[in-house]
Amino acid sequence: MKLDRILLLGNPLLYEKALPVSPDELPSLQADIQDLHAIILEFRAKYQAGRAVAAPQIGLMKRIICWNVERPITMINPELSDLSQEMMELWDDCMSFPHLLVRLQRHQTCTLKFWDENWQPHEWHLEGSLSELIQHEYDHLEGILATQRAIDSQSFRWR
Ligand SMILES: [Zn+2]
Repeated sequence: MKLDRILLLGNPLLYEKALPVSPDELPSLQADIQDLHAIILEFRAKYQAGRAVAAPQIGLMKRIICWNVERPITMINPELSDLSQEMMELWDDCMSFPHLLVRLQRHQTCTLKFWDENWQPHEWHLEGSLSELIQHEYDHLEGILATQRAIDSQSFRWR
């Protein structure tokens, strides 16, 4: 089970900022990237949820998000911009605390730029559930967990 690699809430590495990836180091990260994609599928089989995971969640302190919505894609050095003024409120979840739900706010829409594994640039405009998903994953690269964005002290629920 690659899923065993996921660090859980409280692990100090989850609160650290990840470093940018350079093209020359990408080959050395391939095994971890494969594990991250496997983790999404294993998590989905176990919890019927899970669309993406960030490298710091396995202690790999690199700016990589593995995403699987319709098809798997690896996002390298992602950047978010155009975060909308309009917010959405939701119960968020995380592979690092699979039984906990956290009530928080995310931006309704945003723009995502990233490089893929062939070092090709991409620019996506995301809204709704995909917008909140990328903001969640991007937060992991900044060392921020959903628990830190809870609206108030009652914004926690056991799944
Ligand atoms: Zn998470």
